Amino acid sequence: MFTRDSASPITVVTGGAGFLGSHLTDRLLAEGHRVIGIDNFITGSTSNIEHLAGNDRYRFIKADVSNFIFVPGDVDFVFHFASPASPIDYLEHPIPTLKVGALGTHNTLGLAKAKGAGYLIASTSECYGDPLVHPQKEDYWGNVNPIGPRGVYDEAKRFAEAMTMAYHRFHGVNTHIVRIFNTYGPRMRLRDGRVVPAFIGQALEGKPLTIFGDGSQTRSFCYCSDLIDGIYRLSRSDFHEPVNIGNPREMTIKEFGEHIIRITGAKHGLEYKPLPVDDPKVRQPDITRAKTILGWEPKVEFEDGIRETIEYFRPRVGK
Ligand code: UDP
Repeated sequence: MFTRDSASPITVVTGGAGFLGSHLTDRLLAEGHRVIGIDNFITGSTSNIEHLAGNDRYRFIKADVSNFIFVPGDVDFVFHFASPASPIDYLEHPIPTLKVGALGTHNTLGLAKAKGAGYLIASTSECYGDPLVHPQKEDYWGNVNPIGPRGVYDEAKRFAEAMTMAYHRFHGVNTHIVRIFNTYGPRMRLRDGRVVPAFIGQALEGKPLTIFGDGSQTRSFCYCSDLIDGIYRLSRSDFHEPVNIGNPREMTIKEFGEHIIRITGAKHGLEYKPLPVDDPKVRQPDITRAKTILGWEPKVEFEDGIRETIEYFRPRVGK
């Protein structure tokens, strides 16, 4: 596949055809890396990587990393980003979600160890569950229901963190853990059920925006380019414990819906639906660690990021 040389690191991205995996791939290629993308297309899409066709620094392997992974040649770094990641996706694929967080993490760590490569796992703010500490700092252990519908994702990612630290401590692999908070931007799937594509899609299709519960629950939304920048910096650091990457600007879901209505000029208002089981009531990252260790903080204003995202979805609605 690729052979090691000092000029162009060889980097594997699992979930490489997904929303974040494909943005990460673009950033790595721009930084001069050679990239091997892996995806099984459960939730990823060829449309996210079709612009890479013919790029001689890019290779793609269609595989499920919950099974044994065979990557020929040298590898310098592994990013494990494969997983269903929206609540409706992991409700639809509960067992693949558990497997890719558990077995997929074991296999990708094994790949990194065998190749002498560095490693970064995409973990999540879901490790904090429905948090009793606000905002969430990395030293908070969380409040997770292991057997609820979200448990398949939350517990798989908590296991993934434990496995990653074990490979670091026991095998000396150079590992990193990012806890990703709500992120949005182009290449999200219109119908992945997450609030950003759901509300933008509804607004553009002339439907009311579906607020779950009373809309008083909060989220903090980070634009994808900011998130990828934090992750890239973390991958180059010598820090091994989890780091929150997200945007601390917090708002209620009702406020978020009102912003979408204002920006799109939608006319159909809000519609209230039942709150999903175990839906976290608050979420906001404490990014002190990222600021201190990585010199990172988000730069894209909510208004600008949302407008970019709306323009991405505009030609895709109604299809
Ligand atoms: N949500 C909503 N309407 C929707 C989709 C989601 O009110 O059509 C709410 C959801 O209940 C949650 C928040 O928006 O409180 C964020 O949901 P999302 O699925 O984006 O991700 P989460 O942060 O829950 O993982």
